[in-house]
Amino acid sequence: MATKRQSPLGKCFLCGKVYARAGMARHLRKHLKERQGDTPLVWLRVTDATPWAVLPSQAFWLDLEMPLDLPLLDLDDFLRAIWVECCGHLSHFVVTYQDTTVYFEVHLEGPIPTREEIEEEIRLDGDPIPDTSAPLWVRYAQAFSGPWGVELPASLFTVGDLVQVIDKFVYEYDFGTTTRLNLQVRDRYTGPRPEGNMAIRVLSRNFKPRIPCDVCGKPADVLAVDEEGYYHTLCKQHADEAYDKGDVEYYLPLVNSPRAGLCGYDGPYLPELKFEVFPPEPS
Ligand SMILES: [Zn+2]
Ligand SMILES: [Zn+2]
Ligand SMILES: [Zn+2]
Repeated sequence: MATKRQSPLGKCFLCGKVYARAGMARHLRKHLKERQGDTPLVWLRVTDATPWAVLPSQAFWLDLEMPLDLPLLDLDDFLRAIWVECCGHLSHFVVTYQDTTVYFEVHLEGPIPTREEIEEEIRLDGDPIPDTSAPLWVRYAQAFSGPWGVELPASLFTVGDLVQVIDKFVYEYDFGTTTRLNLQVRDRYTGPRPEGNMAIRVLSRNFKPRIPCDVCGKPADVLAVDEEGYYHTLCKQHADEAYDKGDVEYYLPLVNSPRAGLCGYDGPYLPELKFEVFPPEPS
């Protein structure tokens, strides 16, 4: 599947300017220096690391700004809403702390322990902890470290709980056809609290990748899957023709998300998070 070689372009949602990925990070720093407000914020860059992504993984990014006190569950909701939700799969955040992998599970089976119960578990059953002043999840990881990792309920933790200790973590949605996203801290600063239900501000994101139809070269509308499981990028007309001839089994819309073509993904369920805009033509 051919894409243009040039670095994919994105849009700054603060001023509307267009930059490639690296240039966008430099550009955003200028805006953030001028931020007024005293809410502790973090800027996370979200990129795609999906093992079976149909589209090139470097094509997608989100620059997101959020308060440190944002519950992890709100970040999960937001990532679902903007990029991944198809049919209510499980998800988690994954952090590597020293040698231990910590899974912050969004859906845990059975009763969810309280912070006090986790403290109690560390005290009664955990190995002696080197750093007793560390945050709860770090002490839990130290107390129960092992090659299999540890699980904690995502509902007890905030974004700040993680990024006060680590600079990068992973989000996984759907443990079958997994979409895996890398989240990297780009900066921490104070500024105005993002408004709205989920208190997350989109600073920038990539334009929709311009991918040609395999048959006619016009912009493709769908990812069509043949009976051997191979993907074809097709415009609507050629997708319909291929389907009528039995050349493809089904197709999914080619939407601006690293989950395009996987499971039944067909785009953001919140209209305000849709961004199906092609980059400006090079002049
Ligand atoms: Zn800007
Ligand atoms: Zn699904
Ligand atoms: Zn076509």
